[in-house]
Amino acid sequence: MRIRVGHLYPDYLNIYADRGNIAVLRRRAELRGHELDVESIGLPDALEPGAHDLLYIGGGQDREQALIADDLTGKGDAIAKAVAGGAALLAVCGGYQLLGRGYRGRDGSFMPGTGLFPHETVAGTDRMIGDVLLECELEPGERRLIAGFENHAGRTLLDPGAVPLGRVVYGFGNDGFSGFEGCRVGRAIGTYLHGPLLPRNPWLADWLLAQTLAHATGADPARLSPLDDDLEIEAQRVAAERAKARGGRR
Ligand code: GLN
Repeated sequence: MRIRVGHLYPDYLNIYADRGNIAVLRRRAELRGHELDVESIGLPDALEPGAHDLLYIGGGQDREQALIADDLTGKGDAIAKAVAGGAALLAVCGGYQLLGRGYRGRDGSFMPGTGLFPHETVAGTDRMIGDVLLECELEPGERRLIAGFENHAGRTLLDPGAVPLGRVVYGFGNDGFSGFEGCRVGRAIGTYLHGPLLPRNPWLADWLLAQTLAHATGADPARLSPLDDDLEIEAQRVAAERAKARGGRR
């Protein structure tokens, strides 16, 4: 199967191993006999809803976010239609912030977002930095851990009733006080976690891949054949220990 991935603004939002996340998806897809076709979608490019099985948008600092924010809101309808049509999406950090309603910087300026995720972000005076451990349940009854690293000044406030990606076990998460991290809408996931996210959370990479394949085939998400993930699981264990020992710190 050919899996079509649309990578939004790779020239602007590309810190924190975002390309590494795609490399993991590519490898795990190939090991199951699928090929990943990655298209870069930049400022001048149109986004056709349904043309991609997975949309990916990475992290960047305020300066880079400001350069793409207007263009991204122009693509907002297409992104919303794609997700409503069952496409998967992963948004990390700066991209996660701009897929909400917007981001208010320290200087009071407002960067508009697309509104896919029901949240708003406001920059705080200090940064929330450190290792994070989350507990989440993307499938009912299946409790899993996600280990990652966060580094953000923005505080993201979910609307009442919004579905977070997970509950913070160690670290700050969306805002440092709610205990929530990330947001989920259908097959779209937004998160502050990078550092990198998918290499040490192989189950999450496979969840995303299964959602992506479901869009590609039109079938329900299927269980993927297991891979030898000993190293990845060990990496998650070490990261989880570090989150426990050091957690988030200002
Ligand atoms: N504007 C973001 C912040 O809150 C950038 C986050 C990121 O991608 N590092 O700092």
